[in-house]
Amino acid sequence: MVQGKINVQTENIFPIIKKFLYSDHEIFLRELVSNAVDATQKLKALASLGTFKGEMGDLTIRIKIDREQKTLTVSDAGIGMTAEEVEKYINQIAFSSAEEFLKKFKNVDASTIIGHFGLGFYSSFMVADRVDLNTKTYKKGGGTKAVKWSCDGSPDYTMEESDRSARGTDVILHIAEDSVEFLEEQRILTLLKKYCRFLPVPIEFGTESYSEKIEGEKDEHGHDKYETRQKPRIINNTNPLWKKAPVDLKDGDYLDFYRELYPMQFEEPLFNIHLNVDYPFNLTGILYFPKVKNNFEVQRDKIQLYSNQVFITDSVEGVVPDFLTLLHGVIDSPDIPLNVSRSYLQSDANVKKISGHISKKVADKLEEIFSNRRDEFEQKWDDIRIFIIYGMLTDEKFAERAMKFILLKNTQGKYFTPEEYKNHISGLQTDKDQKLVCLYASDADAQHTYLEDAKERGYDVLLLDGPLDNHFVNLLEQKLENARFTRVDADVMDKLIDKADQMPSKLSEEEQKQLREFIEKTLDNKEFIVQFESLNSDAMPMIITRPEFMRRMKDMQMLGGGMQAFGMFPDSYNLVVNLNHPLVEQLSASGTADETREKLIRQLFDLALLSQNLLKGEKLTTFVKRSVELIG
Ligand code: ADP
Repeated sequence: MVQGKINVQTENIFPIIKKFLYSDHEIFLRELVSNAVDATQKLKALASLGTFKGEMGDLTIRIKIDREQKTLTVSDAGIGMTAEEVEKYINQIAFSSAEEFLKKFKNVDASTIIGHFGLGFYSSFMVADRVDLNTKTYKKGGGTKAVKWSCDGSPDYTMEESDRSARGTDVILHIAEDSVEFLEEQRILTLLKKYCRFLPVPIEFGTESYSEKIEGEKDEHGHDKYETRQKPRIINNTNPLWKKAPVDLKDGDYLDFYRELYPMQFEEPLFNIHLNVDYPFNLTGILYFPKVKNNFEVQRDKIQLYSNQVFITDSVEGVVPDFLTLLHGVIDSPDIPLNVSRSYLQSDANVKKISGHISKKVADKLEEIFSNRRDEFEQKWDDIRIFIIYGMLTDEKFAERAMKFILLKNTQGKYFTPEEYKNHISGLQTDKDQKLVCLYASDADAQHTYLEDAKERGYDVLLLDGPLDNHFVNLLEQKLENARFTRVDADVMDKLIDKADQMPSKLSEEEQKQLREFIEKTLDNKEFIVQFESLNSDAMPMIITRPEFMRRMKDMQMLGGGMQAFGMFPDSYNLVVNLNHPLVEQLSASGTADETREKLIRQLFDLALLSQNLLKGEKLTTFVKRSVELIG
């Protein structure tokens, strides 16, 4: 037996590893199984190169718990190691990375460097107070005897010849007192399901029952008899869908895989996007646009990140563009650094590139679906628009690309791309400055009166009633040249699209002044700014409008747009009085009694409030009573 000291200056590194990796103890299993998979894949590669000529045999990786011995064993039939290799890869290299970790953590925030160093094999000391390695190389000839290595977490290790005859490696963890949870079958099963569900080599753990027909036996009714038997339980799907070529797959395959990923998700996804990139980096994956119920149901962390089929994390913030964290699916890339901290990931230049690329691919795919299957795209648009608009608001490049395929829906339910829409309204909805005026409603019911007004004039109105549409309108204005957006109730219809042909007023300056004073006195309400307009006589006598700019500021503030510093924006309403309406003329006619005029003003004002959904509570009751009186 050889006794040695692992080449490390520090007396005992393990308590420190343990302390800093505390929250993530369970990843030891992922590390060990990944090593076993690597060793197996290497053997397969050597076989295909002709370097390894022997029998491959059964390559299944096996995980075993021995509760009596308090051990957990990971066994593979991979390439194994010679004594020299154990010396080189385990004693020297693996430890030097652990040591490097230790040196750095002294002056750097430890949480930013964990994982950079591939503690890999040594992470087993987070849960074990002794680790044995029993390995035999695939190589033949001198110096290829099996080796047994053992270490108790101090820098001292032992190495001796072993009588192992089968190729491959067993890693045996003697589980520490404080980690006995890892001797529980259920715990290990859950971990394997989490990290190893799609690894490319079969992984066996425990057994599962199945029922099998008993040959030649029947029950009293003449039916076949079955018995429950046990078979080894393979916990992984070695050939997950994202690794297959998209041309070989059908819609149903994507749906089946979605169900495999999310057995608890009942709604079918709307679209899927199969990512398959090999340049400038390697990335595969499938993203699904989920169906969100009613409104914006924020459900992040549904995307799973893999590296060569090893599960890494499902908090993908910083790796994929922010808006895509709302999607479902998997992303697999060996180019994303593993088990590093979130802040490290976010600052990694490579990761940023990957993120940008994913966003581009998603845009390409959406454009493709839009061009090839426009009908389907329109059908699903209302459900996916929330993701796309969020993407546009948070990712400038995506916003640029998306302008080609996003859809605007009008109040009649017709869909247009922004370009199509510009053509659709040009002419009729061009103002005197030759600007296109896009009218929109944020609530078709509440703004019904205004919508009717627009309809009468033959104007088209967009429906922008989604939760992000306040911001979206701003974005659209930036992207669409020579167009502005204005809500249908922002001004009287004649002024929304200002054609510059003002109607003359029938009231003189002096009459107007008196009328204004009288209205202001009667209503005694500072919230509304009285504004006189000479509109058509068929327009309403009084109309409430909400100027676009102030309303947008207010809406943004309500959404928490970071404008709290300005104080609360006041609500800003105009009370537009149509001077050409016969009832308004009657208001300034000399023969009308003041009492009648007051009543009329109140009634007209209440009607205007009512059209804007603003008449509530006591005011509504008063209005109803007054209306009854007036009819009487
Ligand atoms: P990494 O896997 O990141 O290289 P590890 O510390 O996990 O780092 O492992 C160090 C080295 O030990 C591996 O690169 C490999 O050469 C060797 N090794 C570990 N586990 C096995 C195994 N099951 N079979 C063969 N070699 C192994």
